[in-house]
Amino acid sequence: MADEPHPVSNPVEDEENKRYCWVCYASDEDDETAPWVKPCKCRGTTKWVHQSCLQRWVDEKQKGNSTVKVNCPQCGVEYFIAFPNMGQLMLFLDRVDAFIYKVCPFVAAGVVVGSIYWTAVTYGAITVMQVVGYQEGMALMEQADPLVLLVGLPTIPIFLILGKMVRWEDKVLRLIRMSVQRLPFLKYLLPAFRYEELSDVSTTAVISDPVNATRVLCGALSLPTLATIVGRLFFPSAQDNLTRTLLGGASFLVVKGLFKVYYKQQQHVEPVPTTLSPSSGFDMEQQYLQQHQQ
Ligand SMILES: [Zn+2]
Ligand SMILES: [Zn+2]
Repeated sequence: MADEPHPVSNPVEDEENKRYCWVCYASDEDDETAPWVKPCKCRGTTKWVHQSCLQRWVDEKQKGNSTVKVNCPQCGVEYFIAFPNMGQLMLFLDRVDAFIYKVCPFVAAGVVVGSIYWTAVTYGAITVMQVVGYQEGMALMEQADPLVLLVGLPTIPIFLILGKMVRWEDKVLRLIRMSVQRLPFLKYLLPAFRYEELSDVSTTAVISDPVNATRVLCGALSLPTLATIVGRLFFPSAQDNLTRTLLGGASFLVVKGLFKVYYKQQQHVEPVPTTLSPSSGFDMEQQYLQQHQQ
């Protein structure tokens, strides 16, 4: 029992079994968890390499181009680089991700433009029915070529908005101011223009507020409704819906325009808020005289 040889491991063999990574020179003792691979025909100490070290080394050789062939620096065997399934999946997902990233802005823009277009078509159809009457409007649109409708209906709000941007009140206001200067008796017909100064016509080229997009939009798109209401109120005996709405719209625009001219002129003559000094025509005349005596 006693002379039975004690199993002693051969130190030379032990040294041979010891694994050293040829990239980082670490052994099993240095890192017990890192996975090892034998990727080539090398024997001896350069046989083993850490999976992660080899991967890093190959990546460095390839410099991002995965088609570059890489060989073992010792034995010259070409490494066969197998992408794990997860890698292929990731590659695919990567491409999908990049594709979505590129395409999304266009899709979003398309959705927005499409929504605006269909809103304009709907608005145009509603306006047609509002202006010529529901039954007549439906009949009209059923008879029309669908292409004509798809192109024609969205132009209705566009023309309303363009029309709204024509600022004819400015021209009327300027015209009245010039007329008042040439024909002073007009001052008695138009009290708001009584205090018009000679120099003003040239200096008050800009009378209106700057164009306000939401105001133009709301004003333009509410015009057919207002025209219909005014038409029903004041022109009930018109021969058909179209005439009634057109009459209503025209009179609404004229009356509103004249009010605007008056309002702008009053603002121009007397910029002081009227709530601070509620002034009659007589007071204004006094103020005017006082200002010009100084
Ligand atoms: Zn290593
Ligand atoms: Zn090798």
